[in-house]
Amino acid sequence: MICSEFSALVPRYLKGDLADPLLGEFEQHYFQCDRCFSDLQVEEKLVNKEFTVNTGNIIPIGTRSMVKFLAAAASFVLVAVLSVFYFSNANYQKRLYEASQFTAPSFITSESRHAGQIGPFMAAMDFYKEGQYEQARVILEKIPPGKRDMPVVFFQGVCHLLEEDHNAAIRQFNIIISDMNPSYYDEAIYYKAIALLRLDKIAKAKELLYNLTDMLSPFACKSRAMLEKVKNL
Ligand SMILES: [Zn+2]
Repeated sequence: MICSEFSALVPRYLKGDLADPLLGEFEQHYFQCDRCFSDLQVEEKLVNKEFTVNTGNIIPIGTRSMVKFLAAAASFVLVAVLSVFYFSNANYQKRLYEASQFTAPSFITSESRHAGQIGPFMAAMDFYKEGQYEQARVILEKIPPGKRDMPVVFFQGVCHLLEEDHNAAIRQFNIIISDMNPSYYDEAIYYKAIALLRLDKIAKAKELLYNLTDMLSPFACKSRAMLEKVKNL
């Protein structure tokens, strides 16, 4: 219903001559259109004055105020419910984030598994050591495919994780996991589990962490600790 249709129906409405479905459409517009809402209230006041002078034939305005009151009450309840939902969800995200806190893997230049890495990798790791993960990742991404050894793939994944691009991180860790490269295998699984936790894929993350606890790896212990922290999520 448009405003002109609404105002044309006002006299009939005030006389109580409107029936459904027209009445329904009329009241719907009344609740949705501020202008018609206030226009009608003015009209009602005028009519009520006449009626008080004339007869006792007063339109049951109380019914409509009750509808309006109930509509207001209902929207209040809806807002309250949505707020509770929003805040409990925000609270859950916060607990998830806290439970999955991790320390970034440290890069130790002298480690044998980086031996033979080319200049750009080392330049990227200089940024990494300074906590400048985005700059580090940009350099790592530019390393040509033929030179993209596992250290490059791994630290690119770690940078994505630290930049909270969890899906991109998982893609990098999957390369290492499917390659079964022993020098980064456990670590890739561990950090993939963290990325999954952050994506709220708890069951999948726990499965990876459980698998790690059985391995002869420094990450077995870390995984047990992480499982303990996330068990009540
Ligand atoms: Zn209107």
